[in-house]
Amino acid sequence: MGLLLRLARQWIAGETAEQGLEQVRKANSKGILGLLNLLGEHVETREDIDATVREYQKLLDLIERDHLLSQISIKPTQMGLSVDFDYCLQNYLQVAQSCFEQGNNHLWIDMENSPYTQLTINLYTKILSKFPNTGIAIQAYLKRSEQDIKDLIPLGAKIRLVKGAYKEDPNIAFKSKKDVSDNYSRLLTVLFTECTQDNFVAVATHDRKMIELSKDLARKSPKSKYEYEMLMGVRDNLKSDLVSEGKQVREYIPYGPKWLPYSIRRIREKKSNILLLARSLVTQ
Ligand SMILES: Cc1cc2nc3c(=O)[nH]c(=O)nc-3n(C[C@H](O)[C@H](O)[C@H](O)COP(=O)(O)OP(=O)(O)OC[C@H]3O[C@@H](n4cnc5c(N)ncnc54)[C@H](O)[C@@H]3O)c2cc1C
Repeated sequence: MGLLLRLARQWIAGETAEQGLEQVRKANSKGILGLLNLLGEHVETREDIDATVREYQKLLDLIERDHLLSQISIKPTQMGLSVDFDYCLQNYLQVAQSCFEQGNNHLWIDMENSPYTQLTINLYTKILSKFPNTGIAIQAYLKRSEQDIKDLIPLGAKIRLVKGAYKEDPNIAFKSKKDVSDNYSRLLTVLFTECTQDNFVAVATHDRKMIELSKDLARKSPKSKYEYEMLMGVRDNLKSDLVSEGKQVREYIPYGPKWLPYSIRRIREKKSNILLLARSLVTQ
């Protein structure tokens, strides 16, 4: 576990909120905005879920206290989606209300694996109708996403487009890197073409080709409201390049003791991460 933790530390600010805020401070000093996430998913007891709601509210207070530039992003099963839909909705609404009170800050909803897709969209549309400063992640590897995006845009949705990080069945998901990238390009085009002033696009990828495409699309739709979002510990040079071009860039900064599932998804994303882990296990 020690090895894994050392590898994981590149993507994680630490175990405490203070360490998360410290990483936001570092990002802000480089002209990069923050997007804090308390690690945790599939939280099943109401006691733990209620504590999570309080932690996010505390985090929002600390962001305001320290005058930091950061939003927050939360996984639905961390707010109780696998326990009860209405309970989860109430939890999100409490945090959305705190965001609103703290300088009209924004709340993002992460997207988890496909059993939760529709529920998460249902949750999102309800939150969005009360709190317009709320966004949702949509996964380009899911075949349904084009329709989801087209349904969400007229509601004033703020959409973070990601490729998708979970193992999904080929019946519902594109599997090859090329097919996922092709769909990402297609969805990016829909977003930049169809979004209006009520919408917002977060281009959340480290893929240079997708970023170049988004720049072309933004040139053709100069009124688009958008930003780039990338993960802590991935492609820092690309973040700096975009900042120096005058683009708005935000870094997703996770923290907390429950770092394992998130870290495994990050390790799987790049062959060299898997090799690094394998090599360090062999040379132990
Ligand atoms: C801000 C943000 C929020 C996200 N939220 C969600 C979410 O809610 N739900 C969800 O399913 N997924 C989410 N993701 C993860 C996303 O789905 C992808 O798994 C991840 O971003 C890698 O895809 P990519 O677009 O960077 O493209 P890829 O083709 O995977 O990567 C492009 C290049 O980026 C670099 N790179 C990518 N990942 C890593 C890594 N882990 N370590 C080192 N280099 C790397 C490599 O150089 C790679 O060649 C989020 C990603 C970001 C940036």
